[in-house]
Amino acid sequence: MLKGVTSLAGRNLRLLTTQGQVLVHHQHRAKASAAEPAELLDQETDLSKRAKFGHTGKQLQQKICKEKKLRAPPLLNLVFANRKLSFYDTSSTPKTKEDNAKLSQRRHYSMRPHREQEQRNAEDVLFDMFASEETGLISMGKFLAGLKTTGIRRNDPRVRELMDNLKKVHKLNNYETGSSAETQHLNRETFKAVVAPNIVLIAKAFRQQFVIPDFTSFVKDIEDIYNRCKTNTLGKLADYIPQLSRYNPDSWGLSICTIDGQRFSIGDVEVPFTLQSCSKPLTYAIALEKLGPKVVHSYVGQEPSGRNFNELVLDQNKKPHNPMINAGAILTCSLMNALVKPDMTSAEIFDYTMSWFKRLSGGEYIGFNNAVFLSEREAADRNYALGFYMRENKCFPKRTNLKEVMDFYFQCCSMETNCEAMSVIAASLANGGICPTTEEKVFRPEVIRDVLSIMHSCGTYDYSGQFAFKVGLPAKSGVSGGMMLVIPNVMGIFAWSPPLDHLGNTVRGLQFCEELVSMFNFHRYDNLKHLSNKKDPRKHRYETKGLSIVNLLFSAASGDVTALRRHRLSGMDITLADYDGRTALHLAASEGHLECVKFLLEQCHVPHNPKDRWGNLPVDEAENFGHSHVVEFLRSWAEKVDQPNEECQPEAVTTKTQADEEICSTSDLETSPATSPIPTPAESGSRAGSGRSSPVPSDAGSTASAGSASSIDDKTKPGL
Ligand code: GLU
Repeated sequence: MLKGVTSLAGRNLRLLTTQGQVLVHHQHRAKASAAEPAELLDQETDLSKRAKFGHTGKQLQQKICKEKKLRAPPLLNLVFANRKLSFYDTSSTPKTKEDNAKLSQRRHYSMRPHREQEQRNAEDVLFDMFASEETGLISMGKFLAGLKTTGIRRNDPRVRELMDNLKKVHKLNNYETGSSAETQHLNRETFKAVVAPNIVLIAKAFRQQFVIPDFTSFVKDIEDIYNRCKTNTLGKLADYIPQLSRYNPDSWGLSICTIDGQRFSIGDVEVPFTLQSCSKPLTYAIALEKLGPKVVHSYVGQEPSGRNFNELVLDQNKKPHNPMINAGAILTCSLMNALVKPDMTSAEIFDYTMSWFKRLSGGEYIGFNNAVFLSEREAADRNYALGFYMRENKCFPKRTNLKEVMDFYFQCCSMETNCEAMSVIAASLANGGICPTTEEKVFRPEVIRDVLSIMHSCGTYDYSGQFAFKVGLPAKSGVSGGMMLVIPNVMGIFAWSPPLDHLGNTVRGLQFCEELVSMFNFHRYDNLKHLSNKKDPRKHRYETKGLSIVNLLFSAASGDVTALRRHRLSGMDITLADYDGRTALHLAASEGHLECVKFLLEQCHVPHNPKDRWGNLPVDEAENFGHSHVVEFLRSWAEKVDQPNEECQPEAVTTKTQADEEICSTSDLETSPATSPIPTPAESGSRAGSGRSSPVPSDAGSTASAGSASSIDDKTKPGL
């Protein structure tokens, strides 16, 4: 056991010491080429451990060292191959003892904090990535295009200094002919000076450290959904005021802003429209921020009304049901007038409210449509009725001037905006009240939590229950065709298309939301941990896979059959290998865990003879570490499998769920290979991992039925 632990720490699971990230391991490996002393020491200890256990001869050690040197790619190549960026300036690696001494002296006396040093490197690596080998200059056009693929736009306030610097340099260069400030070519030093003020954000972008690391792929999927919704021509324009009925029914815009300020927009995203009911969560947020939930909810409830959005009805406490329906929103407006800013004139309250909306939108377009305001006021019999009804029932705070309150409500509905600005507002809600593009804290997180809770249950008129069920995200729609969708801690989305369904929700916007959550695991109750058929754009592709491998290998190395069984039942590919080509079977064998070895071969049907990067088979591992009982078992297994005429054990990976197991146990499936959940030989081959020397049986029928039979056997074994 002790021996297992030692070797585990030293060799088998070095992956774990790097926080379980295979990519980190890759970088670690790449850095080995720089031959840092500590690193070499590590390698030596590592190798001496191997030698101590009789595992490798001197020759093999040399081979490994040589191979490591040969195979460790220059860092930037690795970066490109994996689309993952690392910021180590290999060119500044000390080559001689003198260099080393200089470097350590510099380190010692440098007043620069470590972070700054790192950033300096980042600037160099960025330059190297984009610079032309021929001219030695960087094309800023290419660089900014690269930045855009990460979701950062040129007009992002967080890269303002970069853009200003570019203009200054362009001017200093006497407006270099043939290029603009944004397409000019710069040398290394100038580039570094230009990007320095915004390097933290830029480095984060290129390191793929934003909430949506692979923004380009995500955007492609979004475009597909957008285009599918575009062909949907159902729905009718709102016509209770002429301004709404004049919209173009083909208008369709969609904007996204993540909590890291990654932006994407498609379609009619700059066409202005009025906020209408999308203003309701925002005025509610201001009231909560200023008065707190106790005061606010002593006037307005939190329950879905189950009735029409403008119905003349109060809850059993004689309060409007919630702040998302008209009665509740009028009440919120009265709180603003009478409690939040009782000393302000109507004009001042309008400005005050608009300034909140503007801050939430990071300074993007928030205007006012006077024609809509006047029309709203003209066609407001029902809203006035609600106001009088509430006044009769003493719903308003004292000192409420109903006429002013009603005007203020119509003004909020008539504020004008576009998809771009609204996506930033939605992102500020997703980001706990901090605007992602300006990084200004507009609301407290508790306020946002309350706002999102009410949006979740009451945001889409009489569809709210179904929306919460199907989409599972907070949203607010409005009669002008807007749909504000918030994915908490991830992003805000705004969809705008004027045709509405019979409940008042934008048809295309609704379709978009529903398709979004069927493609991505954004539904509040989607499981994020286990395998599912939905995409998770939040995780790095490699990270997800890397973590699964680490978990699997750790279970095998520590002899945990129960954990292995869980991996298998969750549908995981048990043949997965780490960077060194080491599989669960290698680890179980080298640690002498016979039970695990048996489980992997007999029940998971993994190949018995995968080779790691040094050419070692699991049986070699068992032998090298002196686990004779495992060696014996593996040898006899190999003999059995390699006998061509004997009944074959399928050497395929079964990625079955528990449900599959149950289906498999029904008698009609036992004899029916056609409907068996066991993979066909073709599937088995591909799942068994590329390049593995897996002896897949040639007879398709027998493979399937043998697989079924064996899985039924499995069920009879205790503990499965
Ligand atoms: N101005 C509209 C009203 O109060 C807003 C309706 C809405 O968007 O739901 O009737």
